Amino acid sequence: MKRFTNRTVLITGGTSGIGFATARRLLDEGAYVVITGRDQARLDTAAERLGSQGTEGTEGSEGSEGSQRVLPVHADVSVDADLDLLVRRIETWRGTLDAVFANAGIADFRPEFTPKDFDHTVGINFKGVFFTIQKALPLMGEGGAVVINASWTLHRGLPVASIYAASKAAVHNLARTLGTDLAPRGIRVNSVSPGYIETEMYRSAIDPDAESRITAEVPLGSLGHPDDVAAAVAFLASDDASYITGQDLVIDGGLVGAAPLGLRL
Ligand code: NAD
Repeated sequence: MKRFTNRTVLITGGTSGIGFATARRLLDEGAYVVITGRDQARLDTAAERLGSQGTEGTEGSEGSEGSQRVLPVHADVSVDADLDLLVRRIETWRGTLDAVFANAGIADFRPEFTPKDFDHTVGINFKGVFFTIQKALPLMGEGGAVVINASWTLHRGLPVASIYAASKAAVHNLARTLGTDLAPRGIRVNSVSPGYIETEMYRSAIDPDAESRITAEVPLGSLGHPDDVAAAVAFLASDDASYITGQDLVIDGGLVGAAPLGLRL
Protein backbone atom coordinates (compact mmCIF):
# COMPACT_ATOMS: atom_id res chain seq x y z
CA MET A 1 0.00 0.00 0.00
CA LYS A 2 1.55 3.33 -1.05
CA ARG A 3 -0.42 6.16 0.53
CA PHE A 4 2.36 8.76 0.28
CA THR A 5 3.48 8.61 -3.35
CA ASN A 6 4.92 12.00 -4.30
CA ARG A 7 4.02 13.47 -0.88
CA THR A 8 6.55 15.30 1.27
CA VAL A 9 6.75 14.66 5.00
CA LEU A 10 8.86 16.38 7.66
CA ILE A 11 9.97 14.25 10.62
CA THR A 12 11.84 16.02 13.42
CA GLY A 13 14.26 13.86 15.40
CA GLY A 14 14.36 11.36 12.55
CA THR A 15 17.77 9.84 13.21
CA SER A 16 16.69 7.23 15.73
CA GLY A 17 13.85 5.40 17.42
CA ILE A 18 10.28 6.23 16.49
CA GLY A 19 11.26 9.06 14.11
CA PHE A 20 13.63 6.84 12.16
CA ALA A 21 11.10 3.98 12.00
CA THR A 22 8.47 6.42 10.71
CA ALA A 23 10.86 7.76 8.05
CA ARG A 24 11.50 4.20 6.87
CA ARG A 25 7.79 3.41 6.83
CA LEU A 26 6.83 6.52 4.87
CA LEU A 27 9.67 6.02 2.38
CA ASP A 28 8.33 2.51 1.81
CA GLU A 29 4.95 4.10 1.14
CA GLY A 30 6.41 6.39 -1.50
CA ALA A 31 7.04 9.63 0.43
CA TYR A 32 9.78 12.21 0.10
CA VAL A 33 11.04 12.46 3.68
CA VAL A 34 12.87 15.27 5.45
CA ILE A 35 14.60 14.13 8.65
CA THR A 36 16.16 16.47 11.17
CA GLY A 37 18.66 16.00 13.97
CA ARG A 38 21.25 17.89 15.97
CA ASP A 39 24.25 15.70 15.28
CA GLN A 40 25.61 15.73 11.72
CA ALA A 41 27.28 12.32 11.99
CA ARG A 42 24.06 10.67 13.21
CA LEU A 43 22.10 12.45 10.50
CA ASP A 44 24.47 11.19 7.81
CA THR A 45 24.30 7.64 9.15
CA ALA A 46 20.51 7.72 9.33
CA ALA A 47 20.21 9.15 5.82
CA GLU A 48 22.60 6.50 4.53
CA ARG A 49 20.57 3.76 6.23
CA LEU A 50 17.43 5.20 4.70
CA GLY A 51 19.03 4.94 1.29
CA SER A 52 20.52 8.36 0.69
CA GLN A 53 24.26 7.65 0.90
CA GLY A 54 24.63 10.67 3.21
CA THR A 55 24.08 13.24 0.46
CA GLU A 56 21.42 15.88 0.81
CA GLY A 57 19.22 13.85 -1.50
CA THR A 58 18.49 16.61 -3.97
CA GLU A 59 16.67 15.53 -7.07
CA GLY A 60 19.09 14.46 -9.72
CA SER A 61 21.88 13.70 -7.22
CA GLU A 62 23.86 10.50 -7.55
CA GLY A 63 22.51 7.46 -5.77
CA SER A 64 19.53 5.16 -5.54
CA GLU A 65 15.95 6.25 -6.13
CA GLY A 66 15.50 6.03 -2.34
CA SER A 67 18.38 8.44 -1.75
CA GLN A 68 16.65 11.07 -3.84
CA ARG A 69 13.65 10.91 -1.54
CA VAL A 70 15.52 11.70 1.70
CA LEU A 71 16.66 15.15 2.80
CA PRO A 72 18.62 15.19 6.07
CA VAL A 73 18.72 18.67 7.65
CA HIS A 74 20.78 19.69 10.65
CA ALA A 75 18.29 21.52 12.91
CA ASP A 76 17.62 21.83 16.61
CA VAL A 77 13.87 22.25 17.15
CA SER A 78 14.45 24.55 20.11
CA VAL A 79 16.40 27.04 17.95
CA ASP A 80 14.27 29.47 16.01
CA ALA A 81 16.85 30.19 13.31
CA ASP A 82 17.32 26.44 12.68
CA LEU A 83 13.59 26.03 12.07
CA ASP A 84 13.59 28.95 9.63
CA LEU A 85 16.48 27.39 7.74
CA LEU A 86 14.75 24.00 7.78
CA VAL A 87 11.62 25.39 6.19
CA ARG A 88 13.64 27.21 3.52
CA ARG A 89 15.46 23.96 2.70
CA ILE A 90 12.17 22.10 2.32
CA GLU A 91 10.75 24.85 0.14
CA THR A 92 13.78 24.72 -2.14
CA TRP A 93 13.75 20.92 -2.27
CA ARG A 94 10.05 20.21 -2.77
CA GLY A 95 8.13 23.50 -2.71
CA THR A 96 5.35 22.22 -0.43
CA LEU A 97 4.79 19.96 2.55
CA ASP A 98 2.00 17.42 2.95
CA ALA A 99 2.59 16.21 6.48
CA VAL A 100 4.62 16.96 9.61
CA PHE A 101 5.54 14.49 12.33
CA ALA A 102 6.65 16.66 15.27
CA ASN A 103 8.50 13.87 16.99
CA ALA A 104 11.72 15.29 18.49
CA GLY A 105 11.67 15.14 22.27
CA ILE A 106 13.69 14.46 25.38
CA ALA A 107 12.90 12.67 28.64
CA ASP A 108 14.54 14.23 31.66
CA PHE A 109 13.23 12.29 34.66
CA ARG A 110 14.28 13.45 38.14
CA PRO A 111 12.65 14.28 41.46
CA GLU A 112 13.65 17.97 41.44
CA PHE A 113 14.11 20.44 38.62
CA THR A 114 15.86 23.80 38.34
CA PRO A 115 14.34 26.57 36.19
CA LYS A 116 17.08 25.74 33.63
CA ASP A 117 15.99 22.07 33.51
CA PHE A 118 12.41 23.23 33.09
CA ASP A 119 13.29 25.52 30.19
CA HIS A 120 15.35 22.79 28.52
CA THR A 121 12.55 20.22 28.45
CA VAL A 122 9.80 22.70 27.64
CA GLY A 123 12.00 24.36 24.99
CA ILE A 124 12.23 21.09 23.04
CA ASN A 125 9.06 19.16 23.92
CA PHE A 126 6.58 22.04 23.81
CA LYS A 127 8.05 25.21 22.28
CA GLY A 128 9.96 23.14 19.73
CA VAL A 129 6.78 21.33 18.67
CA PHE A 130 4.74 24.53 18.53
CA PHE A 131 7.21 26.41 16.34
CA THR A 132 7.97 23.42 14.12
CA ILE A 133 4.29 23.36 13.24
CA GLN A 134 3.84 27.12 13.01
CA LYS A 135 6.79 27.56 10.68
CA ALA A 136 5.86 24.57 8.51
CA LEU A 137 2.27 25.71 7.99
CA PRO A 138 2.93 28.19 5.13
CA LEU A 139 4.12 25.21 3.05
CA MET A 140 0.98 23.17 3.81
CA GLY A 141 -2.46 23.24 2.27
CA GLU A 142 -5.76 21.37 1.87
CA GLY A 143 -5.34 17.69 2.79
CA GLY A 144 -2.30 18.37 5.00
CA ALA A 145 -1.76 16.48 8.25
CA VAL A 146 0.20 17.12 11.42
CA VAL A 147 0.97 14.36 13.92
CA ILE A 148 2.57 15.22 17.26
CA ASN A 149 4.45 12.68 19.35
CA ALA A 150 2.99 12.95 22.85
CA SER A 151 3.21 10.13 25.43
CA TRP A 152 1.15 7.74 27.56
CA THR A 153 2.24 9.88 30.52
CA LEU A 154 -0.34 12.48 29.54
CA HIS A 155 -2.98 9.91 30.51
CA ARG A 156 -1.46 8.44 33.71
CA GLY A 157 0.78 9.82 36.46
CA LEU A 158 4.40 8.67 36.39
CA PRO A 159 6.64 9.56 39.35
CA VAL A 160 9.60 11.89 38.62
CA ALA A 161 8.26 12.67 35.14
CA SER A 162 6.38 15.85 36.02
CA ILE A 163 7.77 18.30 33.47
CA TYR A 164 8.05 15.71 30.70
CA ALA A 165 4.44 14.56 31.25
CA ALA A 166 3.13 18.13 31.44
CA SER A 167 4.94 19.00 28.19
CA LYS A 168 3.25 16.02 26.53
CA ALA A 169 -0.16 17.04 27.87
CA ALA A 170 0.52 20.48 26.41
CA VAL A 171 1.27 19.14 22.94
CA HIS A 172 -1.79 16.92 22.93
CA ASN A 173 -3.81 20.01 23.79
CA LEU A 174 -2.13 21.71 20.84
CA ALA A 175 -3.40 18.92 18.61
CA ARG A 176 -6.94 19.60 19.82
CA THR A 177 -6.72 23.35 19.55
CA LEU A 178 -4.83 23.50 16.26
CA GLY A 179 -7.12 20.79 14.91
CA THR A 180 -9.94 23.28 15.31
CA ASP A 181 -7.89 26.26 14.16
CA LEU A 182 -6.66 24.63 10.99
CA ALA A 183 -9.81 22.75 9.98
CA PRO A 184 -10.97 25.60 7.71
CA ARG A 185 -7.69 25.21 5.80
CA GLY A 186 -8.26 21.44 5.44
CA ILE A 187 -5.32 20.57 7.69
CA ARG A 188 -5.79 17.90 10.36
CA VAL A 189 -3.81 17.76 13.62
CA ASN A 190 -3.59 14.72 15.91
CA SER A 191 -1.21 13.28 18.48
CA VAL A 192 0.06 9.80 19.21
CA SER A 193 0.79 8.59 22.71
CA PRO A 194 3.31 5.75 22.69
CA GLY A 195 3.56 3.49 25.73
CA TYR A 196 6.89 1.89 26.62
CA ILE A 197 8.66 1.66 23.26
CA GLU A 198 12.11 0.11 22.96
CA THR A 199 14.29 3.03 21.84
CA GLU A 200 17.40 4.90 23.02
CA MET A 201 15.15 7.14 25.11
CA TYR A 202 13.54 4.17 26.83
CA ARG A 203 16.94 2.57 27.49
CA SER A 204 18.39 5.77 28.97
CA ALA A 205 15.37 6.52 31.16
CA ILE A 206 14.41 3.09 32.47
CA ASP A 207 16.44 0.79 34.71
CA PRO A 208 16.89 -2.58 32.91
CA ASP A 209 15.99 -4.35 36.18
CA ALA A 210 12.53 -2.75 36.00
CA GLU A 211 11.69 -4.27 32.62
CA SER A 212 9.88 -7.38 33.82
CA ARG A 213 7.75 -5.28 36.18
CA ILE A 214 6.97 -2.90 33.31
CA THR A 215 5.97 -5.57 30.83
CA ALA A 216 3.84 -7.23 33.51
CA GLU A 217 1.79 -3.99 33.65
CA VAL A 218 1.20 -4.09 29.87
CA PRO A 219 -1.80 -6.28 28.99
CA LEU A 220 -0.21 -7.31 25.67
CA GLY A 221 2.82 -8.42 27.67
CA SER A 222 5.76 -6.73 25.94
CA LEU A 223 7.48 -3.44 25.17
CA GLY A 224 6.38 -1.77 21.95
CA HIS A 225 8.58 -1.52 18.87
CA PRO A 226 9.17 1.79 17.05
CA ASP A 227 7.44 0.27 13.98
CA ASP A 228 4.24 -0.06 16.04
CA VAL A 229 4.16 3.72 16.45
CA ALA A 230 5.29 4.35 12.87
CA ALA A 231 2.25 2.44 11.58
CA ALA A 232 -0.08 4.62 13.67
CA VAL A 233 1.63 7.83 12.54
CA ALA A 234 1.40 6.74 8.91
CA PHE A 235 -2.33 6.12 9.38
CA LEU A 236 -2.99 9.53 10.97
CA ALA A 237 -0.88 11.33 8.35
CA SER A 238 -2.65 9.54 5.48
CA ASP A 239 -5.99 10.10 3.79
CA ASP A 240 -7.25 6.99 5.62
CA ALA A 241 -7.65 9.34 8.61
CA SER A 242 -9.26 12.14 6.60
CA TYR A 243 -12.16 12.56 9.09
CA ILE A 244 -10.00 12.42 12.23
CA THR A 245 -8.65 15.55 13.86
CA GLY A 246 -7.85 16.77 17.38
CA GLN A 247 -7.47 13.21 18.68
CA ASP A 248 -4.85 11.26 20.59
CA LEU A 249 -4.11 7.70 19.47
CA VAL A 250 -2.56 5.62 22.25
CA ILE A 251 -0.15 2.87 21.15
CA ASP A 252 0.73 1.18 24.41
CA GLY A 253 -0.26 -2.51 24.42
CA GLY A 254 -3.18 -1.58 26.70
CA LEU A 255 -1.10 0.08 29.45
CA VAL A 256 -3.16 3.21 30.15
CA GLY A 257 -6.52 1.49 29.87
CA ALA A 258 -5.73 -1.32 32.29
CA ALA A 259 -6.03 -1.36 36.06
CA PRO A 260 -2.63 -1.54 37.83
CA LEU A 261 -1.44 -5.14 38.22
CA GLY A 262 -2.08 -5.14 41.97
CA LEU A 263 -5.77 -4.45 41.34
CA ARG A 264 -6.29 -7.08 38.66
CA LEU A 265 -8.01 -10.28 39.76
P1 NAD B 1 14.97 8.67 20.65
O1 NAD B 1 15.86 9.24 21.71
O2 NAD B 1 15.47 7.59 19.78
O3 NAD B 1 14.43 9.83 19.69
C1 NAD B 1 14.36 11.19 20.06
C2 NAD B 1 14.90 11.95 18.88
O4 NAD B 1 14.70 13.36 19.09
C3 NAD B 1 16.40 11.73 18.73
O5 NAD B 1 16.70 11.46 17.38
C4 NAD B 1 16.99 13.05 19.18
O6 NAD B 1 18.23 13.34 18.59
C5 NAD B 1 15.90 14.01 18.75
N1 NAD B 1 15.96 15.29 19.44
C6 NAD B 1 16.01 15.51 20.77
N2 NAD B 1 16.10 16.82 21.02
C7 NAD B 1 16.10 17.44 19.81
C8 NAD B 1 16.19 18.78 19.39
N3 NAD B 1 16.31 19.78 20.29
N4 NAD B 1 16.15 19.07 18.07
C9 NAD B 1 16.05 18.07 17.17
N5 NAD B 1 15.99 16.77 17.48
C10 NAD B 1 16.03 16.46 18.80
O7 NAD B 1 13.67 8.20 21.43
P2 NAD B 1 12.18 7.91 20.91
O8 NAD B 1 11.62 7.05 21.96
O9 NAD B 1 12.13 7.49 19.51
O10 NAD B 1 11.51 9.36 21.10
C11 NAD B 1 10.74 9.99 20.08
C12 NAD B 1 9.55 10.66 20.70
O11 NAD B 1 8.70 9.65 21.26
C13 NAD B 1 9.86 11.65 21.84
O12 NAD B 1 9.11 12.83 21.67
C14 NAD B 1 9.40 10.89 23.07
O13 NAD B 1 9.01 11.74 24.10
C15 NAD B 1 8.25 10.08 22.52
N6 NAD B 1 7.90 8.93 23.35
C16 NAD B 1 8.75 7.88 23.48
C17 NAD B 1 8.39 6.80 24.30
C18 NAD B 1 9.27 5.58 24.49
O14 NAD B 1 8.97 4.75 25.35
N7 NAD B 1 10.33 5.41 23.74
C19 NAD B 1 7.16 6.82 24.96
C20 NAD B 1 6.32 7.92 24.80
C21 NAD B 1 6.71 8.96 23.99
